[in-house]
This record gives sequence, C-alpha cells and structure tokens, in this order.
Amino acid sequence: MHLPRFEYIRAKNLADGLALLAEHGADAKVMSGGSDLLINMKFRLDTPKVLISLNGVEELQTISVRADGRLQIGAGCRLTELVANPIISERFPILHDAMFSVGSRHIRNIATLGGNLCLETRCWYTNQSENWRMTREGCFKTDLEACHVIKTANRCHAINSSDTAPALMVLDASVIVARHDGQREVALIDFYHDDGVDHTVIKPDELLTAVLIPGSSRRTIFAKLAQRVGLDFAVGTFAASVSGSNDAPDSVCLVLNSVSAAPKVLAESEKILTESGLSDEAIEAAAIAARKALGEVTNLFTPSGFKRRLVKTLIRDALHELREQAS
Ligand SMILES: Cc1cc2nc3c(=O)[nH]c(=O)nc-3n(C[C@H](O)[C@H](O)[C@H](O)COP(=O)(O)OP(=O)(O)OC[C@H]3O[C@@H](n4cnc5c(N)ncnc54)[C@H](O)[C@@H]3O)c2cc1C
Repeated sequence: MHLPRFEYIRAKNLADGLALLAEHGADAKVMSGGSDLLINMKFRLDTPKVLISLNGVEELQTISVRADGRLQIGAGCRLTELVANPIISERFPILHDAMFSVGSRHIRNIATLGGNLCLETRCWYTNQSENWRMTREGCFKTDLEACHVIKTANRCHAINSSDTAPALMVLDASVIVARHDGQREVALIDFYHDDGVDHTVIKPDELLTAVLIPGSSRRTIFAKLAQRVGLDFAVGTFAASVSGSNDAPDSVCLVLNSVSAAPKVLAESEKILTESGLSDEAIEAAAIAARKALGEVTNLFTPSGFKRRLVKTLIRDALHELREQAS
C-alpha cells in the first residue's frame, strides 16, 4: 500500500514546528514516530497536505525534574528509552509497565510518548484499506454522519487504545499543549473527549510538548489484555492507584481504557473502595459497578458481552494484586 502524496517538512526546533503548524493549520499533521500515523495515511484515513516531522526537535526529547518536583518527560521521547529509564521504573512503575506493554520492541523503538497519548482512535469498520471501506457507506470518521457500530449514535464510537493514558491519569499527570504564541497545561483527565473524531483538546495549530508527573507514594497497578501480545491493540486496559491503607484508603483512582472513545474514570467504583476499603466484598462491588459504568458497549474488535465480562475480571484481579502490594 502506497502513501498518498504530501509535502514533508522536518521541523528544525520547537519554535519552527509551532510556526509551521500556525502556517499550515488543518492542512498539516505532525508526525513523531509515525508508527500509527503512516499506517492511517496508507489507509487514506489521514491525508494531510503537509507532514511536519518532529523527529529532529531536541527540546521534545529531554527528561528533567522541575522546580516544583514534577518529572517532565518530552513528548518526543521514545518508549524504548523511557522503559529503560531507572527514574521511571523506580518512581513510576505503572508508567514503565504501560509503556513496556505497547506493541513490540520494534514499535517501541520508534514510538514516542506524545504520539501514544495523541494516538488516533480506532474502529474495526474504519481502520481498513480504502478498498475495503468502499464496500459500505462512510461514517463519522470519513464522510457521513453515521456509525456502523452503534446505529443510533450521533457521534463516533471509535476506541481510544493508548496504553499510557490510563497509567498517567491515575498518577494525576498533566500535559503541556503549545502553539506559536504560548502554551497551556491540561490535566490529563481533561485531555480527552468522548468522541472518536474530535478525541483530544488539541487544536490543529497546537501540539503536545511534554508530560508532567507529580511525585507519588501511591501504590499502583496496570493490567492489559490483548489477543496477541506485541501485535494487537488491547481489548481492555485498567490502571489503578491507591494512597493510604487497604482498610481506609485516602484516595483511589481507577481508569479503564480501550473500551470507549475516551479513557473512562470509574467514579462509582472509586467511591465504593474509598468508603469500604479494599475488602473482598468491596472489590467485587467495584468490579460490578465498573461493568455497569460501561454503558452502551460497542461491538468493536470483540463481542460486547465478552467486553463486559472482561472488564469485571480485569478489574477484580488487578485490585486483588494491588491489595497484596501493601503486605
Ligand atoms: C503492530 C502495532 C502494534 C501496536 N500496539 C500498540 C499497543 O499495544 N498500545 C498502544 O498504545 N499503541 C500501539 N500501537 C500504536 C502506536 O505504535 C503507538 O501508540 C505509538 O506510541 C504512537 O507513537 P508515535 O510517536 O509513533 O505516533 P505517530 O504515529 O507519530 O502519531 C500518532 C498520532 O499522534 C499525533 N501526534 C504525534 N505526536 C504529537 C505531538 N507531539 N503533539 C500532538 N499530536 C501528536 C499524530 O499527528 C498522529 O495523529 C501499535 C502500532 C502497531 C503498528
């Protein structure tokens, strides 16, 4: 499959990249590793006139500790390097585990953290060749106000499959979003929209420059199920963090991903565990509440009944493991 025609520009530095984005706006797309974007371009799902490569932008490839104590990771850092970084594996083992679970070593060698957080949503009906898609009507992702997954839907239900997003959300991380005339900090919890087409707060002339992670004494866990490890995207991922004791936690954060257009914060399950602690009964109730929180489950990639069962089991097993960490 060939790439469509496009103009390729390699940004010299961050200011240059932001100026190029300001100039080309919606006609342009930024590329970090390209491990996802180039495939979407071959599928003609993305056909930017201009491709702005961030690969030579050194400012995006640094890691530092800020004056406020937060770890700042440049959006252009490769996952392989981050996985091998001892600061991350010691201070944020959940992030290490999530990054290590992304694709295979080959993918992680080129994939970046920024690209993973901005990863396009995916749909069984859409992430196919143009020829395959021509056999049916279009959808919200292409050229029609329709969804093949949930027929009555008034928005796109393609799935967010970023593995690092749920892990970073339970660490209370933020991202820096920059444009040519300034930048803003966005809590990751507010970064995603529950809409497969317009799935992040990033505007066409903006890009994600860094991830900020506050110091944490929380216990954490990351769980993921994929049909073929290293090849397939997850059919479900779950991240959890707890502070305080198992019996009386100070706070509990639970986020599910790869089941909907945006990572899902499990507020009801969090409430159950915060009020009742991590007892067997509370964990079971939290897992059941998570299953209910799924709401309208899409039939993407796996049957919806399987997805409901998966969520309950994934969460229950992970929470038991998290509880054991305290002993
Ligand atoms: C076989 C295979 C298996 C995979 N398995 C997984 C998996 O298990 N888990 C997973 O999460 N992903 C998986 N992926 C998807 C992808 O490889 C990763 O998500 C990777 O981290 C994407 O990073 P990248 O730098 O290559 O992004 P790119 O492909 O460069 O970009 C992805 C998207 O993000 C945008 N973007 C990139 N950088 C920025 C930025 N700084 N600011 C704003 N927008 C930006 C791009 O415009 C594009 O829309 C897999 C891919 C393949 C081919």
